[in-house]
Amino acid sequence: MKNLFSILFNSNQKTKNHVSDTYLDDVYCLERSEILDDKTCNFCLSMDGRTFAKDDPIGNTDEFCKGCRGIWAEVLNDQSIKPEIDQIPSELLKCIKGGKRSMMGLKKPIVDENSPAWEELERRKSDKK
Ligand SMILES: [Zn+2]
Repeated sequence: MKNLFSILFNSNQKTKNHVSDTYLDDVYCLERSEILDDKTCNFCLSMDGRTFAKDDPIGNTDEFCKGCRGIWAEVLNDQSIKPEIDQIPSELLKCIKGGKRSMMGLKKPIVDENSPAWEELERRKSDKK
């Protein structure tokens, strides 16, 4: 759980479309949530916490990399504080368009300063010292 927004987790991550039709009107956007540890790849680190429009085709992707552990969370309309839909950095979009190999080949994570993914990178740096 990386934000203050109350989110409804998908019960079935393997369905084609992550926003179930029943709740489509209630959903404001999708947020990617990754497990952040030593195993998290550069691409998934870059995706953590990013928000997408509920009809963005990216939201139909279950796994971005081999052994991907990320999930999509639905942010609902009735939340009083809603996140802004992110502008995804072009370098990251290019990776998505390039397919899995391109995602796993991302040389450096693209994260916002002070985000949980940024903190994870800081932790890795301090572990190496
Ligand atoms: Zn990954």
